[in-house]
Amino acid sequence: MLKRTAAAAVISLAAVTTAAAQQDYPSKPVTIMMPYAAGGPGDTITRIVGNGMTKVLGKQFLVENVGGAGGTIGTQKVAATAPGDGYSLLIMHFGHAANSALYPNLRYDPVTDFEHIGMFAQSPMAIVAKKDFPAKDFKEFVAYLKANPSKIVHGHAGLGSASHMCGLSFLQAVDLKVTTVPYKGTAPALNDLVGRQFDFMCDQTVNIAQPVKAGMIKGYAVPTKTRLEVLPDLPTTAEMGMPNVTMDVWYGMWAPKGTPKPVVDKLSAALRDALKDPDVKGKLTSMGAEILPDNQINSETLRAQVAREVVRWKDTISKAGIVATQ
Ligand code: ASP
Repeated sequence: MLKRTAAAAVISLAAVTTAAAQQDYPSKPVTIMMPYAAGGPGDTITRIVGNGMTKVLGKQFLVENVGGAGGTIGTQKVAATAPGDGYSLLIMHFGHAANSALYPNLRYDPVTDFEHIGMFAQSPMAIVAKKDFPAKDFKEFVAYLKANPSKIVHGHAGLGSASHMCGLSFLQAVDLKVTTVPYKGTAPALNDLVGRQFDFMCDQTVNIAQPVKAGMIKGYAVPTKTRLEVLPDLPTTAEMGMPNVTMDVWYGMWAPKGTPKPVVDKLSAALRDALKDPDVKGKLTSMGAEILPDNQINSETLRAQVAREVVRWKDTISKAGIVATQ
């Protein structure tokens, strides 16, 4: 009897301690995993949002970059910290869902192995080429690719990355196969594109708007429904007769499975508040990213989005016949 009472006391003390830890959250720095290389679009977005969260919650939100295998290596690292305590988070884009179709050996399920904090931004892309690519506009660009497929090299951020999927749908639309080089993110890819080491890629305006404006690379078209304020001279792929070449790069934030609900709720609220910060808002929108409406930045919307996108990408990827290994 005495033993049972002592055990009950230990359990209730543990419960009180856990509840207090959840209430005090965060009491130390939080790490956000960005599973692409430092300096790229995913990293830029993560650092801006992380700074906003730091201001809202009063503890440092640090960024860790583990690139490779289309973001699955870094994502797996976060999944492996389950049950989560709120100190290890993930920011990733639609690839979180698409990768489950691409990588048959993934050791995590993008829906059930994570707590969903919120989907928060859309990041548009553009088709860009090295500075001396011999084409003055998109029409000439396509004509040159078609005339010289064996000479062309396309770069992207790894199988399943936004840059890969966008490049793939463009190449399918023009019915071309060219040599493709995977990088660990579009930051190292952009360095090589500026250095004229390969010919073209798709990338988020967060990364390439400035270099296009500065004439370091050439912009040809945007795979979006409407023209972008940040690169207004570039035609949309639809205007160029390719309405199916569109990409929506939506970003979300996750915690590993088992992160306590009060902590997840606190993070969702902090994410919404961080995105209202004029500095965060100003930086993201000046690079072309679009912040989602406040009432869409929540756990349920993100969970439903991942579930829907897993199905959508399974279909697209199986039709394209791509299989990747980690
Ligand atoms: N996430 C980007 C992509 O999917 C690459 C990056 O952030 O470096 O293309």
